[in-house]
Amino acid sequence: MTNPALVGIYGGTFDPIHFGHLRVAEELLSDIAFSRFFFVPAGAPRLRDLPFASKTQRATMVELAIQDNPGFLLDTREIKREGVSRTVETLREYRSEYGGDVALCLIMGADAFLKIHQWCDWHEVFELCHVVIVNRPGSMLIKHKQDLPEEIQQVCAARWVTCSVSLTSQPYGLIYMAATTLLDISATQIRAMVAAKKSIRYLLPDAVSDYIKTHQLYTEEYEFKKIGQHRG
Ligand code: ATP
Ligand code: MG
Repeated sequence: MTNPALVGIYGGTFDPIHFGHLRVAEELLSDIAFSRFFFVPAGAPRLRDLPFASKTQRATMVELAIQDNPGFLLDTREIKREGVSRTVETLREYRSEYGGDVALCLIMGADAFLKIHQWCDWHEVFELCHVVIVNRPGSMLIKHKQDLPEEIQQVCAARWVTCSVSLTSQPYGLIYMAATTLLDISATQIRAMVAAKKSIRYLLPDAVSDYIKTHQLYTEEYEFKKIGQHRG
């Protein structure tokens, strides 16, 4: 098989995956000529609390959410990895698997990008891939780049491109702000609604909400049962 020209890598906790993630991914697929687009559920994150659902449950929910879309693929490498989840490690693996010529694009919401300088080896991200940022209600700062933390501004200054076609001009190092639909949906909000026994319908695919219901995820009962157990 010949190497793809442009590979999308959409990392996240996906606890659970929702229409905010999926709609953004769908719009990116039509804006950017990705030949492969992977959802990569994180293992144990370094910078946030442990997820509520297990690694396997989060990956299964992604699988259920993308099952009808042949353009979307699930990559389980991070949930299979021992220890904490580091995006840079994943990017290094992609680079060595795909070789030097393929353009890799890491997809991030603006809220995540604003904290990129807290990641391990974050400068290396721009030596491994492009970054595609999607705005998100509540984190629109990137419209005004001067509002970015100084450290990020310095590293990113010469990297911004305004056209997605530029991403094929080199394999890494550019930052593109995509104009995707703003959807004010978060997994935190969904978990809180489940715990409060409110409907989560139309915020995420039915297959995922059915899975949440069947496994009683995010309910007080479920969290209570887990006390004393290791979240895997
Ligand atoms: P949580 O509330 O648990 O943090 P989340 O909804 O932010 O969950 P994550 O799994 O943390 O979902 O997000 C994965 C990636 O998707 C991040 O880069 C995040 O910024 C982005 N993202 C999440 N929700 C949206 C949304 N509604 N619109 C655009 N990007 C989003
Ligand atoms: Mg988040």
